[in-house]
Amino acid sequence: MLIVKKFGGSSVADAKKVFNVANLIVEDYKKGNDVIVVVSAQGDTTDDLIAKAKEINPKNPSKREMDMLLSAGEQISISLLAMAIETMGCPVISLLGWQAGFNTDSHHTVARIKNINGERLKKEIDKKKIVIVAGFQGINKYDDVTTLGRGGSDTSAVAIAAALKADLCQIYTDVDGVYTADPRKVPNAQKMDAICYDEMLELATLGAQVLNNRSVEMAKKYNVELEVRSSLEPHKSGTIVKEKVKMEKTLIKGVAKDNNVASISIVELEDKPGIAFKIFNKLAQAKINVDIILQSIGRNNTKDITFTVSQDNREDAIAVIEALKDTLDFKAVTYDEGVSKVSIVGAGMESNPGVAAKMFEALFDAGINIRMISTSEIKVSVLIDENKADEAVIAVHDKFVN
Ligand code: ADP
Ligand code: ASP
Ligand code: MG
Repeated sequence: MLIVKKFGGSSVADAKKVFNVANLIVEDYKKGNDVIVVVSAQGDTTDDLIAKAKEINPKNPSKREMDMLLSAGEQISISLLAMAIETMGCPVISLLGWQAGFNTDSHHTVARIKNINGERLKKEIDKKKIVIVAGFQGINKYDDVTTLGRGGSDTSAVAIAAALKADLCQIYTDVDGVYTADPRKVPNAQKMDAICYDEMLELATLGAQVLNNRSVEMAKKYNVELEVRSSLEPHKSGTIVKEKVKMEKTLIKGVAKDNNVASISIVELEDKPGIAFKIFNKLAQAKINVDIILQSIGRNNTKDITFTVSQDNREDAIAVIEALKDTLDFKAVTYDEGVSKVSIVGAGMESNPGVAAKMFEALFDAGINIRMISTSEIKVSVLIDENKADEAVIAVHDKFVN
């Protein structure tokens, strides 16, 4: 059997944890399996490297050099893990992303995997070696190192499982599965035995960082079944992520929170046809993803438009609007980063009216004001004050789960 195992940063944070992970790998290998392992950088290494870059250039280090820097974190963890396995007497080799055949596009810091040339991986597996691969990185057509965006190691693991048609793809982390809400924030969150790709994709996109959303997207595309498990309690069963899951009676699958949100308002904008098109077309051309949009009713021939973007896109989005000043009449552009998006997700809500109202009731009971709302067939999101977000998640979770 070919098993792909991925270990996140918290699972390899120190020497003791590296040995713990090495034991899990060797256990599977000694049963006669082929094992490919994907690892993230140890603990907070990636954050520490970003802080180092800011010491040198706080505003705009080039993205190419950021990738050069950030990819170093995984180089450390793969070699240490390989050394730990060597001490246990098993044949092992560590490989950087480019050595493992990860070809990506050239969008530095958020590159997408184009394909995996699995030759080297297969060669090492044929030699009966355990292969340890650096997650989160690849190489572009100019032979420059790229990284896949924060949390990208999950995607590296799924990509290998898809390319090599692995029998199992296990994502080990510091919790023992996917819960109805972040178990660190919501004490009575419940573990799910299984969840379907679409619901997991929504949860991940809306802030449940237990799985990176691109990894779920890729798992769905190539039909890779995922198993989310704990590296600290490795023999506990986890959560399976797959195409179809038996429908349960519960109305919603989970609650997620995203603090990486900024709202931007264009104030006293002229009120005539074509204005929204002009603005959002320019934002789209700048590759800025706009999430929730709210337009006030017109008065005195003006209106306000407020929309949300991720905080990383805030500056760029404001620059795009400011650049329209010559062709658009408006008074000011303002922004607010003290906001959070809280969402409920569940395929069951499509056929159940009143789900949104129930969420709003929970927020009303908790005295939390809603600034903006957006809905789709399988989710409802609200924008609220960031300092109320944890409280909101608990209130909404209590209303639906149990
Ligand atoms: P890793 O370093 O293993 O990649 P992450 O920190 O990226 O781990 O993801 C695991 C964390 O995700 C958990 O510690 C947990 O706090 C958080 N999390 C958020 N939402 C959920 C959820 N619905 N179920 C499980 N964990 C969640
Ligand atoms: N080390 C990278 C990060 O912290 C990738 C990952 O953890 O998946 O984002
Ligand atoms: Mg992660």
